[in-house]
Amino acid sequence: MIAVSQQPRAAPVVQRDYVSFSAISTYQQCPLRYYFRYIEGLEEPFVSASLALGGAVHSAVEFHLNELMAGKSPPDHDTLLDVFWDEWKSRAETAEIRFGKKDDLDSIAKTADRIIAAFRDSDIARPTGNIIGVEEELRSQLIPGMPDILGRVDLIAESDQALTITDLKTARTRWSAEQAERSGEQLMLYAALAKDLVPGKPIRLEFAVVTKAAKPNVDTLPVTFNQKRVDRTMSVMQRVWQSIHEGHFYPSPSPMSCPSCPFRSPCDAWSG
Ligand code: SF4
Repeated sequence: MIAVSQQPRAAPVVQRDYVSFSAISTYQQCPLRYYFRYIEGLEEPFVSASLALGGAVHSAVEFHLNELMAGKSPPDHDTLLDVFWDEWKSRAETAEIRFGKKDDLDSIAKTADRIIAAFRDSDIARPTGNIIGVEEELRSQLIPGMPDILGRVDLIAESDQALTITDLKTARTRWSAEQAERSGEQLMLYAALAKDLVPGKPIRLEFAVVTKAAKPNVDTLPVTFNQKRVDRTMSVMQRVWQSIHEGHFYPSPSPMSCPSCPFRSPCDAWSG
């Protein structure tokens, strides 16, 4: 990639005293997309149905786990579907939900129904140990010279043996064990943020991957904690932050990112 612009450091419209892994990932994916979202704070005129589905599944799972953490019975299928549709509607009120070629509301409803059923049957619906956090915000100034790092952890459960940190993903296809290991940077960062929650207790990391397919699966895939990877992740974040701080914003078009990017119009209008 070639930097086509080195803009002067501008006061961000969006003021934040923290930085998240997803913000850093957005910059790595496309620096101009980061600029529109996190510096200019542009509204996102549309959201893909796939992203809206993932967000609504997240809400239903969060509700289920919060009920368990409160000592209540697992919610039934229809209750979780209601949570799903409440979240879907609230997204539809703030942005147009744009369907893919093979999607419509009917297909989303069928997929949601199957995903909720698969989730309720899965191990992740019955975590081992005590649930001590759901969508838990952990923040710390992990990296010198950077604002606090903020992580929103989907699930933290404590057993006699370990503290288990689970990150929920929705994906089009099932992940392999190798894919989970290779995608573990976010979990490494969460481990660094959670290390003082229960001092001395080993930390286990895992992804719970829900496939948005005709026959959904919910797979739990472990990721090996590795201090070298934690250090490497923080080093990468530090370099990306430096690049952001120095105002290096430029488009990084790709067939994977651009079709679902909500900033295509401002991107086309951007003159460098
Ligand atoms: S349309 Fe593509 S290049 Fe432009 S901001 Fe979005 S992701 Fe980046």
